[in-house]
Amino acid sequence: MNKFEQLGLNEQLLNAIKDMGFETPSEVQEKAIPVLLAQDTDMVALAQTGTGKTAAFGFPLIQKIDISSRKTQGLILSPTRELCLQIANELKNYSKYTKGLNVVAIYGGASITEQAREVKRGAQIIVATPGRMQDMVNREMVDITNINYCILDEADEMLNMGFYEDITAILSHTPSEKNTWLFSATMPREVASIAKEFMRQPVEITVGSKNQGSDTVRHEYYLVNGRDRYEALKRLADANPDIFSVVFCRTKRDTQSVAEKLIEDGYNAAALHGDLSQNQRDLVMKAFRNRQIQMLVATDVAARGIDVDDVTHVINYQLPDEIETYTHRSGRTGRAGKSGISMVILPKSEVRKISTIEKIIKQKFEAKKLPSGIEICEI
Ligand code: ADP
Ligand code: MG
Repeated sequence: MNKFEQLGLNEQLLNAIKDMGFETPSEVQEKAIPVLLAQDTDMVALAQTGTGKTAAFGFPLIQKIDISSRKTQGLILSPTRELCLQIANELKNYSKYTKGLNVVAIYGGASITEQAREVKRGAQIIVATPGRMQDMVNREMVDITNINYCILDEADEMLNMGFYEDITAILSHTPSEKNTWLFSATMPREVASIAKEFMRQPVEITVGSKNQGSDTVRHEYYLVNGRDRYEALKRLADANPDIFSVVFCRTKRDTQSVAEKLIEDGYNAAALHGDLSQNQRDLVMKAFRNRQIQMLVATDVAARGIDVDDVTHVINYQLPDEIETYTHRSGRTGRAGKSGISMVILPKSEVRKISTIEKIIKQKFEAKKLPSGIEICEI
Protein backbone atom coordinates (compact mmCIF):
# COMPACT_ATOMS: atom_id res chain seq x y z
CA MET A 1 0.00 0.00 0.00
CA ASN A 2 1.51 3.33 -0.96
CA LYS A 3 1.13 6.45 1.10
CA PHE A 4 -1.64 7.94 -1.04
CA GLU A 5 -3.76 4.88 -0.19
CA GLN A 6 -3.39 5.64 3.50
CA LEU A 7 -4.87 9.11 3.21
CA GLY A 8 -8.44 7.93 2.73
CA LEU A 9 -8.81 8.77 -0.95
CA ASN A 10 -11.30 6.82 -3.07
CA GLU A 11 -10.53 4.39 -5.88
CA GLN A 12 -11.24 6.88 -8.68
CA LEU A 13 -8.77 9.40 -7.29
CA LEU A 14 -6.13 6.75 -6.55
CA ASN A 15 -6.34 5.56 -10.14
CA ALA A 16 -5.95 9.08 -11.46
CA ILE A 17 -2.98 9.65 -9.12
CA LYS A 18 -1.38 6.50 -10.51
CA ASP A 19 -1.88 7.78 -14.06
CA MET A 20 -0.29 11.13 -13.18
CA GLY A 21 2.74 9.33 -11.79
CA PHE A 22 2.57 10.83 -8.28
CA GLU A 23 4.28 8.27 -6.06
CA THR A 24 4.18 9.79 -2.60
CA PRO A 25 2.15 12.67 -1.18
CA SER A 26 3.99 15.91 -0.52
CA GLU A 27 4.12 17.18 3.06
CA VAL A 28 1.22 19.60 2.71
CA GLN A 29 -0.84 16.87 1.04
CA GLU A 30 -0.03 14.39 3.77
CA LYS A 31 -1.08 16.86 6.42
CA ALA A 32 -4.14 18.40 4.79
CA ILE A 33 -5.87 15.57 2.90
CA PRO A 34 -6.77 13.23 5.80
CA VAL A 35 -8.05 16.12 7.91
CA LEU A 36 -10.18 17.59 5.12
CA LEU A 37 -11.60 14.16 4.23
CA ALA A 38 -12.42 13.21 7.79
CA GLN A 39 -13.96 16.42 9.08
CA ASP A 40 -15.99 19.37 7.98
CA THR A 41 -13.57 22.02 9.09
CA ASP A 42 -11.99 25.30 8.12
CA MET A 43 -8.27 25.18 7.38
CA VAL A 44 -5.35 27.54 7.04
CA ALA A 45 -2.43 25.88 5.27
CA LEU A 46 0.88 27.65 4.77
CA ALA A 47 3.31 26.14 2.31
CA GLN A 48 5.74 27.57 -0.19
CA THR A 49 5.17 27.60 -3.92
CA GLY A 50 5.68 24.26 -5.60
CA THR A 51 4.76 22.14 -2.60
CA GLY A 52 1.66 20.61 -4.19
CA LYS A 53 -1.09 22.73 -2.68
CA THR A 54 -3.47 22.23 -5.62
CA ALA A 55 -3.82 18.52 -4.93
CA ALA A 56 -3.87 19.15 -1.17
CA PHE A 57 -7.25 20.86 -1.56
CA GLY A 58 -8.21 19.39 -4.95
CA PHE A 59 -8.30 15.71 -3.96
CA PRO A 60 -10.49 16.15 -0.87
CA LEU A 61 -12.71 18.67 -2.65
CA ILE A 62 -13.40 16.28 -5.51
CA GLN A 63 -14.12 13.43 -3.14
CA LYS A 64 -16.55 15.53 -1.12
CA ILE A 65 -18.63 16.77 -4.06
CA ASP A 66 -22.06 15.22 -4.45
CA ILE A 67 -21.92 14.13 -8.09
CA SER A 68 -25.65 13.36 -8.18
CA SER A 69 -26.36 17.06 -7.88
CA ARG A 70 -25.37 19.59 -10.52
CA LYS A 71 -25.47 22.51 -8.11
CA THR A 72 -22.32 24.55 -7.52
CA GLN A 73 -20.83 23.14 -4.33
CA GLY A 74 -17.22 24.27 -4.39
CA LEU A 75 -15.69 27.64 -5.24
CA ILE A 76 -11.96 28.13 -5.66
CA LEU A 77 -10.69 31.70 -5.82
CA SER A 78 -7.28 32.18 -7.36
CA PRO A 79 -5.37 35.34 -8.30
CA THR A 80 -4.86 35.10 -12.06
CA ARG A 81 -6.46 33.78 -15.22
CA GLU A 82 -3.45 31.52 -15.82
CA LEU A 83 -3.74 29.98 -12.37
CA CYS A 84 -7.50 29.47 -12.75
CA LEU A 85 -6.96 27.61 -15.99
CA GLN A 86 -4.13 25.60 -14.51
CA ILE A 87 -6.13 24.61 -11.43
CA ALA A 88 -9.21 23.74 -13.51
CA ASN A 89 -7.04 21.55 -15.74
CA GLU A 90 -5.45 19.82 -12.79
CA LEU A 91 -8.85 19.16 -11.24
CA LYS A 92 -10.00 17.66 -14.55
CA ASN A 93 -6.98 15.35 -14.49
CA TYR A 94 -7.61 14.37 -10.88
CA SER A 95 -11.26 13.61 -11.63
CA LYS A 96 -10.80 11.73 -14.88
CA TYR A 97 -12.41 8.64 -13.31
CA THR A 98 -14.94 10.62 -11.27
CA LYS A 99 -17.77 10.55 -13.79
CA GLY A 100 -20.22 13.42 -13.81
CA LEU A 101 -17.95 16.02 -12.18
CA ASN A 102 -17.85 19.35 -13.97
CA VAL A 103 -15.25 22.01 -13.33
CA VAL A 104 -15.60 25.46 -14.89
CA ALA A 105 -13.01 28.24 -14.96
CA ILE A 106 -14.14 31.85 -14.74
CA TYR A 107 -11.77 34.75 -15.41
CA GLY A 108 -11.60 38.16 -17.05
CA GLY A 109 -10.70 38.80 -20.67
CA ALA A 110 -13.06 36.16 -22.06
CA SER A 111 -16.78 36.14 -22.84
CA ILE A 112 -18.78 36.43 -19.65
CA THR A 113 -21.96 35.14 -21.29
CA GLU A 114 -20.17 32.03 -22.54
CA GLN A 115 -18.82 31.45 -19.02
CA ALA A 116 -22.30 31.98 -17.57
CA ARG A 117 -23.66 29.41 -20.03
CA GLU A 118 -21.05 26.87 -18.95
CA VAL A 119 -21.94 27.41 -15.31
CA LYS A 120 -25.63 26.96 -16.11
CA ARG A 121 -24.95 23.59 -17.70
CA GLY A 122 -23.91 22.45 -14.23
CA ALA A 123 -20.59 23.21 -12.56
CA GLN A 124 -20.14 21.55 -9.20
CA ILE A 125 -16.78 23.29 -8.93
CA ILE A 126 -15.99 26.82 -10.10
CA VAL A 127 -12.42 28.11 -10.26
CA ALA A 128 -12.48 31.89 -10.52
CA THR A 129 -10.54 35.11 -10.26
CA PRO A 130 -12.10 37.37 -7.62
CA GLY A 131 -12.79 40.23 -10.06
CA ARG A 132 -14.75 38.22 -12.62
CA MET A 133 -16.48 36.20 -9.90
CA GLN A 134 -17.72 39.32 -8.17
CA ASP A 135 -18.95 40.64 -11.50
CA MET A 136 -20.91 37.46 -12.18
CA VAL A 137 -22.32 37.37 -8.67
CA ASN A 138 -23.53 40.96 -9.08
CA ARG A 139 -25.18 40.10 -12.38
CA GLU A 140 -26.72 36.98 -10.83
CA MET A 141 -25.04 34.80 -13.42
CA VAL A 142 -23.87 32.34 -10.77
CA ASP A 143 -25.47 31.02 -7.63
CA ILE A 144 -23.04 30.46 -4.79
CA THR A 145 -25.61 30.63 -2.02
CA ASN A 146 -25.46 26.87 -1.46
CA ILE A 147 -21.77 26.11 -1.71
CA ASN A 148 -20.23 23.85 0.90
CA TYR A 149 -16.58 24.61 0.26
CA CYS A 150 -14.73 27.80 -0.52
CA ILE A 151 -11.01 27.63 -1.21
CA LEU A 152 -8.83 30.72 -1.17
CA ASP A 153 -5.76 29.68 -3.11
CA GLU A 154 -2.60 31.79 -3.08
CA ALA A 155 -4.39 34.05 -0.61
CA ASP A 156 -1.35 36.27 -0.08
CA GLU A 157 -1.07 36.89 -3.82
CA MET A 158 -4.76 37.69 -4.18
CA LEU A 159 -4.53 40.24 -1.40
CA ASN A 160 -1.31 41.69 -2.82
CA MET A 161 -3.18 42.24 -6.03
CA GLY A 162 -5.85 44.25 -4.27
CA PHE A 163 -8.67 41.70 -4.25
CA TYR A 164 -9.56 42.15 -0.57
CA GLU A 165 -12.90 43.81 -1.27
CA ASP A 166 -13.90 41.44 -4.05
CA ILE A 167 -13.11 38.48 -1.82
CA THR A 168 -15.08 39.77 1.14
CA ALA A 169 -18.01 40.68 -1.13
CA ILE A 170 -18.00 37.19 -2.66
CA LEU A 171 -17.77 35.53 0.75
CA SER A 172 -20.73 37.55 1.94
CA HIS A 173 -22.84 35.79 -0.71
CA THR A 174 -21.89 32.33 0.53
CA PRO A 175 -23.59 30.45 3.36
CA SER A 176 -21.98 30.79 6.75
CA GLU A 177 -22.06 27.01 7.35
CA LYS A 178 -19.66 26.32 4.48
CA ASN A 179 -16.05 25.35 5.11
CA THR A 180 -13.27 27.69 4.05
CA TRP A 181 -9.82 26.37 3.20
CA LEU A 182 -7.17 29.01 2.88
CA PHE A 183 -3.88 28.17 1.15
CA SER A 184 -1.02 30.60 1.09
CA ALA A 185 2.75 30.75 0.90
CA THR A 186 2.97 33.52 3.48
CA MET A 187 0.84 34.94 6.25
CA PRO A 188 0.88 38.73 5.99
CA ARG A 189 -1.48 40.77 8.12
CA GLU A 190 -4.29 40.92 5.53
CA VAL A 191 -4.37 37.15 5.21
CA ALA A 192 -4.52 36.80 8.98
CA SER A 193 -7.40 39.23 9.11
CA ILE A 194 -9.36 37.37 6.41
CA ALA A 195 -8.80 34.17 8.36
CA LYS A 196 -9.93 35.81 11.57
CA GLU A 197 -13.00 37.39 10.04
CA PHE A 198 -14.28 34.55 7.89
CA MET A 199 -13.11 31.34 9.47
CA ARG A 200 -14.08 29.38 12.54
CA GLN A 201 -11.34 27.62 14.48
CA PRO A 202 -9.44 26.59 11.39
CA VAL A 203 -7.09 23.64 11.55
CA GLU A 204 -3.67 25.15 10.95
CA ILE A 205 -1.01 23.47 8.89
CA THR A 206 2.46 24.82 8.28
CA VAL A 207 5.01 23.22 6.04
CA GLY A 208 8.68 24.10 6.15
CA SER A 209 10.47 26.69 8.23
CA LYS A 210 8.45 28.84 10.61
CA ASN A 211 10.52 31.89 9.92
CA GLN A 212 10.08 31.85 6.19
CA GLY A 213 7.08 33.97 5.62
CA SER A 214 4.76 31.96 7.79
CA ASP A 215 4.40 34.59 10.48
CA THR A 216 2.20 37.53 11.18
CA VAL A 217 4.98 40.10 11.15
CA ARG A 218 4.84 43.24 9.06
CA HIS A 219 8.19 44.52 7.83
CA GLU A 220 8.93 48.22 7.45
CA TYR A 221 11.99 50.30 6.79
CA TYR A 222 12.73 53.96 7.44
CA LEU A 223 15.38 55.60 5.29
CA VAL A 224 17.64 57.96 7.26
CA ASN A 225 21.09 59.49 7.26
CA GLY A 226 23.46 57.26 9.22
CA ARG A 227 24.04 59.97 11.81
CA ASP A 228 20.28 60.28 12.47
CA ARG A 229 19.72 56.73 13.64
CA TYR A 230 19.23 57.67 17.26
CA GLU A 231 16.82 60.52 16.46
CA ALA A 232 14.86 58.10 14.26
CA LEU A 233 14.66 55.58 17.09
CA LYS A 234 13.22 58.20 19.43
CA ARG A 235 10.64 59.26 16.87
CA LEU A 236 9.52 55.68 16.42
CA ALA A 237 9.24 55.24 20.18
CA ASP A 238 7.34 58.53 20.57
CA ALA A 239 4.89 57.57 17.83
CA ASN A 240 4.20 54.27 19.61
CA PRO A 241 3.69 55.09 23.29
CA ASP A 242 2.60 51.53 24.12
CA ILE A 243 5.66 50.07 22.47
CA PHE A 244 7.07 46.89 24.01
CA SER A 245 10.11 46.21 21.93
CA VAL A 246 13.48 44.66 21.39
CA VAL A 247 15.95 47.08 19.76
CA PHE A 248 18.84 45.32 18.06
CA CYS A 249 22.32 46.76 17.77
CA ARG A 250 25.36 45.22 16.13
CA THR A 251 27.87 45.54 18.98
CA LYS A 252 27.91 45.43 22.76
CA ARG A 253 29.25 48.97 22.77
CA ASP A 254 26.43 50.37 20.64
CA THR A 255 23.92 48.41 22.69
CA GLN A 256 25.21 49.95 25.90
CA SER A 257 25.40 53.49 24.54
CA VAL A 258 21.95 53.46 22.88
CA ALA A 259 20.39 52.15 26.09
CA GLU A 260 22.17 54.80 28.16
CA LYS A 261 21.01 57.60 25.85
CA LEU A 262 17.43 56.32 25.93
CA ILE A 263 17.44 56.20 29.73
CA GLU A 264 18.90 59.71 29.86
CA ASP A 265 16.14 60.90 27.52
CA GLY A 266 13.47 59.47 29.78
CA TYR A 267 12.55 56.18 28.10
CA ASN A 268 11.99 52.89 29.94
CA ALA A 269 14.99 51.19 28.44
CA ALA A 270 17.73 48.75 29.41
CA ALA A 271 20.70 47.09 27.78
CA LEU A 272 21.16 43.36 27.38
CA HIS A 273 24.55 42.12 26.22
CA GLY A 274 27.32 39.72 27.06
CA ASP A 275 29.35 42.10 29.21
CA LEU A 276 26.67 42.03 31.88
CA SER A 277 26.84 39.39 34.59
CA GLN A 278 24.33 36.56 34.49
CA ASN A 279 22.64 38.12 37.50
CA GLN A 280 22.31 41.50 35.80
CA ARG A 281 20.93 39.85 32.70
CA ASP A 282 18.37 37.94 34.73
CA LEU A 283 17.25 41.16 36.39
CA VAL A 284 16.91 42.92 33.04
CA MET A 285 14.90 40.05 31.59
CA LYS A 286 12.64 39.96 34.64
CA ALA A 287 11.97 43.69 34.36
CA PHE A 288 11.28 43.30 30.65
CA ARG A 289 8.83 40.47 31.17
CA ASN A 290 7.07 42.59 33.81
CA ARG A 291 6.79 45.45 31.33
CA GLN A 292 8.92 47.73 33.50
CA ILE A 293 11.15 48.04 30.48
CA GLN A 294 9.56 49.03 27.19
CA MET A 295 12.68 49.06 25.07
CA LEU A 296 15.15 46.26 25.54
CA VAL A 297 18.30 47.18 23.65
CA ALA A 298 20.14 43.97 22.84
CA THR A 299 22.82 42.25 20.86
CA ASP A 300 21.85 39.24 18.76
CA VAL A 301 23.74 36.86 20.99
CA ALA A 302 22.14 38.15 24.19
CA ALA A 303 18.65 38.17 22.68
CA ARG A 304 18.87 34.65 21.30
CA GLY A 305 16.04 32.58 22.59
CA ILE A 306 14.21 35.46 24.25
CA ASP A 307 10.67 34.21 24.30
CA VAL A 308 8.53 37.01 25.59
CA ASP A 309 4.92 37.20 24.50
CA ASP A 310 3.34 40.35 23.14
CA VAL A 311 6.49 42.07 21.91
CA THR A 312 4.89 44.67 19.62
CA HIS A 313 7.95 45.90 17.74
CA VAL A 314 11.35 44.64 16.79
CA ILE A 315 13.57 47.56 15.84
CA ASN A 316 16.70 47.00 13.82
CA TYR A 317 18.77 49.97 14.98
CA GLN A 318 21.41 48.49 12.74
CA LEU A 319 20.93 45.59 10.35
CA PRO A 320 22.82 42.45 11.35
CA ASP A 321 26.06 41.52 9.58
CA GLU A 322 24.56 38.19 8.59
CA ILE A 323 21.33 38.81 6.76
CA GLU A 324 19.89 35.48 7.94
CA THR A 325 20.03 36.84 11.48
CA TYR A 326 17.22 39.20 10.49
CA THR A 327 14.69 36.37 10.61
CA HIS A 328 15.74 35.51 14.17
CA ARG A 329 15.31 39.13 15.16
CA SER A 330 11.91 39.61 13.56
CA GLY A 331 10.82 36.30 15.05
CA ARG A 332 10.87 37.95 18.50
CA THR A 333 7.53 39.52 17.60
CA GLY A 334 4.38 38.14 15.99
CA ARG A 335 4.46 35.12 18.26
CA ALA A 336 1.52 32.83 18.99
CA GLY A 337 -0.46 34.18 16.06
CA LYS A 338 -0.30 37.77 17.31
CA SER A 339 0.68 40.50 14.90
CA GLY A 340 3.92 42.40 15.20
CA ILE A 341 6.05 44.90 13.35
CA SER A 342 9.70 44.61 12.48
CA MET A 343 11.24 47.98 11.68
CA VAL A 344 14.58 48.73 10.09
CA ILE A 345 16.30 52.08 10.55
CA LEU A 346 18.11 52.14 7.27
CA PRO A 347 20.93 54.35 6.02
CA LYS A 348 20.83 54.89 2.26
CA SER A 349 24.08 52.99 1.79
CA GLU A 350 22.39 49.77 2.96
CA VAL A 351 19.26 50.02 0.87
CA ARG A 352 20.22 47.07 -1.32
CA LYS A 353 20.13 44.72 1.65
CA ILE A 354 16.35 45.06 1.78
CA SER A 355 15.73 43.07 -1.39
CA THR A 356 18.08 40.36 -0.15
CA ILE A 357 16.10 40.11 3.06
CA GLU A 358 12.83 40.10 1.14
CA LYS A 359 14.00 37.01 -0.74
CA ILE A 360 14.85 35.27 2.51
CA ILE A 361 11.66 36.12 4.37
CA LYS A 362 9.50 35.85 1.23
CA GLN A 363 7.68 38.99 2.23
CA LYS A 364 7.85 42.58 1.03
CA PHE A 365 8.93 45.54 3.11
CA GLU A 366 6.91 48.69 3.35
CA ALA A 367 8.99 51.86 2.84
CA LYS A 368 7.71 54.25 5.51
CA LYS A 369 8.37 57.85 6.42
CA LEU A 370 9.42 58.70 9.92
CA PRO A 371 6.79 60.31 12.09
CA SER A 372 7.06 64.11 11.82
CA GLY A 373 9.57 66.28 13.62
CA ILE A 374 12.63 68.07 12.28
CA GLU A 375 13.24 66.79 8.76
CA ILE A 376 15.88 64.11 9.02
CA CYS A 377 14.43 61.70 6.54
CA GLU A 378 15.89 61.48 3.04
CA ILE A 379 12.81 60.38 1.16
P1 ADP B 1 1.76 24.92 -5.33
O1 ADP B 1 0.31 25.26 -5.59
O2 ADP B 1 2.03 24.56 -3.93
O3 ADP B 1 2.69 25.97 -5.86
P2 ADP B 1 1.26 22.86 -7.29
O4 ADP B 1 0.03 22.28 -6.71
O5 ADP B 1 1.10 23.76 -8.46
O6 ADP B 1 2.10 23.60 -6.16
O7 ADP B 1 2.24 21.64 -7.64
C1 ADP B 1 3.52 21.84 -8.17
C2 ADP B 1 3.91 20.69 -9.11
O8 ADP B 1 4.11 19.50 -8.37
C3 ADP B 1 2.84 20.38 -10.14
O9 ADP B 1 3.48 20.16 -11.36
C4 ADP B 1 2.20 19.11 -9.62
O10 ADP B 1 1.68 18.33 -10.67
C5 ADP B 1 3.36 18.44 -8.92
N1 ADP B 1 2.94 17.55 -7.81
C6 ADP B 1 2.05 17.86 -6.86
N2 ADP B 1 1.93 16.87 -5.95
C7 ADP B 1 2.80 15.90 -6.34
C8 ADP B 1 3.16 14.61 -5.80
N3 ADP B 1 2.61 14.14 -4.69
N4 ADP B 1 4.11 13.90 -6.46
C9 ADP B 1 4.68 14.39 -7.58
N5 ADP B 1 4.40 15.59 -8.13
C10 ADP B 1 3.47 16.35 -7.52
MG1 MG C 1 -0.71 26.87 -6.22
